[in-house]
Amino acid sequence: MQPSPLVIANWKMNGNRQLVQQLAKVLRESQADLTEVAVVVCPPAVLLPAWQQEVFYDAIHLGAQDLNEHASGAHTGEHSLALLHEAGADYALIGHSERRQFYGDSGQRVQAKVDAVLSYQEHLFKLVLCVGEHEQERDAGRTIEVVQQQLEEALQNVSAAQIAQVVVAYEPVWAIGTGKTATPAQAQEVHAFIRQWLVQRFGAAAQQIPLLYGGSVKADNAATLFAEADIDGGLIGGASLEAQAFLEICRAA
Ligand code: PGA
Repeated sequence: MQPSPLVIANWKMNGNRQLVQQLAKVLRESQADLTEVAVVVCPPAVLLPAWQQEVFYDAIHLGAQDLNEHASGAHTGEHSLALLHEAGADYALIGHSERRQFYGDSGQRVQAKVDAVLSYQEHLFKLVLCVGEHEQERDAGRTIEVVQQQLEEALQNVSAAQIAQVVVAYEPVWAIGTGKTATPAQAQEVHAFIRQWLVQRFGAAAQQIPLLYGGSVKADNAATLFAEADIDGGLIGGASLEAQAFLEICRAA
């Protein structure tokens, strides 16, 4: 059985209450078209409560763009899983390349965040682990090696029983926000590798892990990417800020 299709909006540091209402309205009105796809919206954390008021049917979930691995304490500016849960999130992105590049998320920190989600008992969060290579790494033929290393490090302490909580998003760094998309064949090659690695490491249960592609997915290229065997949906940045484009992408999944 194939994993169920999943599309995640990553608003990054964008959006406002008005956009919450706009996108929620569009999704609400198109509910009937979206019965086959799960949709997750990751707004800036301060907009989670506004989304919480708008969430209207079970297939829409809320997610956090990041989290702090500690339970509480002196961590100015950070959000714990308990706070994110209270604000309505039950998904969390971990290891986005912008966090790795600009906010000091080392492989070790990414791993600590993965472990925090999986050991959090109060609520079952799903974690979306982002992996992907830089352009120089692709040019040097190191894509698979880089992705493998990120998977190995992040999922080091994960058991086969916990793998059902994991989603993996392949996001080539050179394709994020640049308008350059990986071709369906380039993306599929990496997704097939990720699937094979996961199955080898965690067994047959890993067949059910959704593998998302992210990096300049738009309404007009989503369908061809999602048609690939191991691409189960997308992690959408820029296009998730336009309600109609995001809806088209959800429909394509
Ligand atoms: P993009 O961002 O769709 O704007 O390329 C994707 C992401 O960073 O998750």
